[in-house]
Amino acid sequence: MERKTVIAGNWKMYKSSAEAVEFIQELAPLVISAKAHVFLGVPFISIGKAAEASRNTNIIIGAQNMHFEEEGAFTGEISSLQLRSEGADFVILGHSERRQIFKETDTMINKKVVRALKDDLIPILCIGETEEHRDQGKTADVLEEHLINGLKNIPTKEAEKIIIAYEPVWAIGTGKVATPEMAQKEHQHIRKVLGSLFGKSVSEKIPILYGGSVKPTNIKGLIEQKDIDGALVGGASLKAESFAQIVNAG
Ligand code: PEP
Repeated sequence: MERKTVIAGNWKMYKSSAEAVEFIQELAPLVISAKAHVFLGVPFISIGKAAEASRNTNIIIGAQNMHFEEEGAFTGEISSLQLRSEGADFVILGHSERRQIFKETDTMINKKVVRALKDDLIPILCIGETEEHRDQGKTADVLEEHLINGLKNIPTKEAEKIIIAYEPVWAIGTGKVATPEMAQKEHQHIRKVLGSLFGKSVSEKIPILYGGSVKPTNIKGLIEQKDIDGALVGGASLKAESFAQIVNAG
């Protein structure tokens, strides 16, 4: 089964809109022949400008979060329809920084996944264990919990539109990358859980990205694994050259 390969950048709270445009102008020619789909999750304020700068390129612009309601009195929040109207095509949901710093729960994240699908945004659902979970041998349980709770109320035909990002929390921004074999083991488990939720053939179509200190020097070993379909990249997505190297390895 040919699954799509996705290399997605997550800029977090970095770069102005002008810097985003400059970055895209530098990145576009470097990834013009990429086999992988190129996603960039930019700050809210830059979505409109970044989407405009990406027109006629193979770069797809998205957001890093959203609210689950359609609209309402939610000061400081942003809706899926607002994101779409600025030109976003995907949204990163349930990133460990959202879970840990902003106390997002599986229930909230699930509502966001449902809303994103309803409004035609591709959700990238992030899941992953902490170092403590791993040390206690709870990795498989945590991944199952994040998947089962995060993907509630998703009809099977919609599930094919979802992207999963496996991001071990201990590997994010730490320089400690999971070995390709370690990551493959978890990806295989994730695909098995997806199979139990949506059936084997749907589970074979869902891209599962690895995230956590991905760099041009370690992407190859990861992407060669059977169940690793791309990467979610934080730090190394902030420089066009290093991000392009990762994209072109995908
Ligand atoms: C991330 O923020 O999703 C991430 C994987 O960060 P980094 O690549 O910097 O570890």
